[in-house]
Amino acid sequence: MADAVHRQAGERRPADPPFATATPHAPESSDEEGLHRVVVVGGGAAGLELVTRLGDRLGRRRRASITLVECARTHLWKPLLHTVAAGSIDPGEYEVNYLAQAHWHGFRYRFGEMIGLDRVRREVRLAATFDDEGRQITPARSVGYDTLVIAIGSMTNDFGTPGVAEYALPLETPAHAERFNRRLFNACLRAQTQAEPPRPGQLHVAIVGAGATGTELAAELHRTIREVVAYGLDRIDPERDIRVVLIEGAGRILPGLPERISKASHRLLERMGIEVRTGARVMEVTAEGLRLADGSFVASELMVWAAGVKAPEVLRELDGLQINRINQLVVEPTLQTTRDAGVFAIGDCAACPRPGSSAPVPPRAQAAHQQAAHMAHQIERRLRGQPLQSYRYRDFGSLVSLGKWTTVGNLMGFLFGRGLFVEGLFAQLMYRSLRFMHEQALGGTIRAVLRVMARALAYRTGSRVKLH
Ligand SMILES: Cc1cc2nc3c(=O)[nH]c(=O)nc-3n(C[C@H](O)[C@H](O)[C@H](O)COP(=O)(O)OP(=O)(O)OC[C@H]3O[C@@H](n4cnc5c(N)ncnc54)[C@H](O)[C@@H]3O)c2cc1C
Repeated sequence: MADAVHRQAGERRPADPPFATATPHAPESSDEEGLHRVVVVGGGAAGLELVTRLGDRLGRRRRASITLVECARTHLWKPLLHTVAAGSIDPGEYEVNYLAQAHWHGFRYRFGEMIGLDRVRREVRLAATFDDEGRQITPARSVGYDTLVIAIGSMTNDFGTPGVAEYALPLETPAHAERFNRRLFNACLRAQTQAEPPRPGQLHVAIVGAGATGTELAAELHRTIREVVAYGLDRIDPERDIRVVLIEGAGRILPGLPERISKASHRLLERMGIEVRTGARVMEVTAEGLRLADGSFVASELMVWAAGVKAPEVLRELDGLQINRINQLVVEPTLQTTRDAGVFAIGDCAACPRPGSSAPVPPRAQAAHQQAAHMAHQIERRLRGQPLQSYRYRDFGSLVSLGKWTTVGNLMGFLFGRGLFVEGLFAQLMYRSLRFMHEQALGGTIRAVLRVMARALAYRTGSRVKLH
């Protein structure tokens, strides 16, 4: 499961040739010879913002060669995945094509999955890629660097629970989210056309993990399943047949956020009719549902695993770079890895110290956004031969979206530095501003505003849920 999650379906075969067959690195374009080579692996919330900034500032002016290595072809901001899974948005309207982004912003995009690193030769090793028919797309190869930034994100942690890989879906990539959405829509169609009424568990969704992902997904699903049914699936009675259960091992939902947000969210979820079970440990996942530690069984045909995060397994094999217990690369406050000053890590895959806290910087979109901006300045300083500066995480608060217009959270920096509890439309607007900032970083303010307007128009003229 570890390696499969970041790969697009069918693009790397299990029987890939060993890396020894890879072609040696050669400069890909002679007009970049002699330039400092910055390679960023992973074009997510952190990596794509970084290469876009670096490409605009350095790549276009030919002050450095900027390359993005990424195993996907398009980028979708991860905090949107639960809305794709629930069918609230069409991912195509939000995706960024890497090749086009590279063309517009002065960096090069190299399609492939990093499978290793040679720190002596300063080369990143990429696996060969294959299409659905098994034909090779790109060969196993290596990409040379002078400065390397690793930004390959994180994945869910199943803690070795039996049955998770077989029966529950994670929510880590657009492919996972779309797969869940298809299963959900198929389940509704099946229930509508079968002779007998829906069985217990047939239209039930169990979500394991009540962090932001699980909590937001539960609220979003509650709305969209009802909207799908309202499009004419008249043999399904939402009150009788549909059930969304949110299961959390800790004593409260949103255990990483302040208690007030957790209580407000819990109250809102229950008011919607979502069943919330806290202090409940999942021991096994089966085709029919979840077996809990207290011996009870939650019958459910659709299951999402959104509990815990860890960094990808490949980080364990990166030529001796230091990792922590969840595979994150341990970095200095300058974002340099502890054992190689020329290799940096940012975003979810980095364990970055946080002064005054025993826990590292949390794996969140705002940390990825801040680190990308900081890293871009660091690389410019490095090219000028100036000393590097430390990154300091600034927590602007946390917001949890519970459906279309309901958001709760706290905003930091208000009221003499104390958190301000916010709820409702204002909180929803603040929540959306984080996504806007990401789009702004990738395409500038005008393009970001145009995208928002285009989507608003599409929303007015199309269906409110994805029906295919
Ligand atoms: C469903 C969901 C909802 C979330 N909601 C919120 C939220 O509301 N607020 C918030 O602050 N945070 C949220 N997060 C967390 C947030 O999305 C992450 O903290 C953020 O995306 C981290 O950015 P990143 O660049 O480190 O990793 P990612 O955005 O995950 O990007 C990693 C990139 O690396 C690529 N990659 C992976 N492995 C390889 C490889 N071996 N070779 C090449 N490329 C590779 C991937 O394809 C991907 O493009 C959410 C996460 C999820 C999954």
